[in-house]
Amino acid sequence: MNKLGLVFDNRYLHHSISKPSSENPNRIRNLYIRLQQKLTGDSFQHIQPREASNAEITTAHSPFYLDQLREHAIKDNPYSYDKDTYLMEDSLPTARLAAGGCFALTDRIMEGDINYGFGIIRPPGHHATPGRGMGFCIFNNVALTAEYLRNTYGLRRILILDFDVHHANGTQEIFYDTDEVMVCSIHQKDLFPFTGTPEELGSGIGKGYTVNIPVHAQFGDKEYTYILGRTLQGIVEQYLPQFILVSAGFDAHKDDTISGTTLSSNWYATIAHILRRHAADNCDNRLLFVLEGGYNPVSLESSIFATIDALLQKNFDRPGILPVPRADKILDNHPMRQFWTI
Ligand SMILES: [Zn+2]
Repeated sequence: MNKLGLVFDNRYLHHSISKPSSENPNRIRNLYIRLQQKLTGDSFQHIQPREASNAEITTAHSPFYLDQLREHAIKDNPYSYDKDTYLMEDSLPTARLAAGGCFALTDRIMEGDINYGFGIIRPPGHHATPGRGMGFCIFNNVALTAEYLRNTYGLRRILILDFDVHHANGTQEIFYDTDEVMVCSIHQKDLFPFTGTPEELGSGIGKGYTVNIPVHAQFGDKEYTYILGRTLQGIVEQYLPQFILVSAGFDAHKDDTISGTTLSSNWYATIAHILRRHAADNCDNRLLFVLEGGYNPVSLESSIFATIDALLQKNFDRPGILPVPRADKILDNHPMRQFWTI
């Protein structure tokens, strides 16, 4: 039976600051209430998160950075890495719980209790580099989960797909020189953090295992489905990942004012179906979604529910992938084609 594990916990609301910030507890407060009301029965399991330990955090972050965070997380005296990334007394335990929530889901997937997982957590993680927080992110939850899979379960081919509208700069930096974790990021061009060009392909034995697909601001469902449908088909069938991790940011939605891209809530169901198909065919259904961005609480909620509904559906087919000429150009000229047949 198709089982979904979910991590959500009111402690994820504890990381907050009095000044206005797009990344705040109200992003998910109502969503949590609706999750509790809507999800009943035995099709999903509510999984308890735990806090990631210092040893676990330092698999992807420097001990110096961790020490710095412990020093700066002081009550009523917010410490900022940049104008977006703040730290209060409750921030560090919340960030530990975000990474640890992903580990709890990973354990259940690897034990076979659940097929799919979704960590509806905050703060987000994909901008956090080994040595610093940035762009709302403190610990890189997805990168730490990939390290957890390598260290605890000995996996050697992990695919991270990041469809948040911003480039996964932190995740890319952490795995830039390895072939054991492949990082594929689709993001809007010329947006924070202004990295993630197609020419950034990895280095050393990691060359070819970083894939960046910057897209035009107006791209929407058709372009995204075509680009990711075609790219994933090529990458998954050649790389043969043992686990698929998704940095699931919902800020490319048309109603999210942080970006110009025009995805609908329903697109997130389409990508969930595509990923389910690949996970079923290649890696025993091991598929874990981890929340990154998404700053309009209404579109965030509808997109997350579209994803959950798609993961809970009994039957699923690979959605049809129709060519879109202006998206074709991006793929036909993409340097990843030196390494992957797409
Ligand atoms: Zn984002």
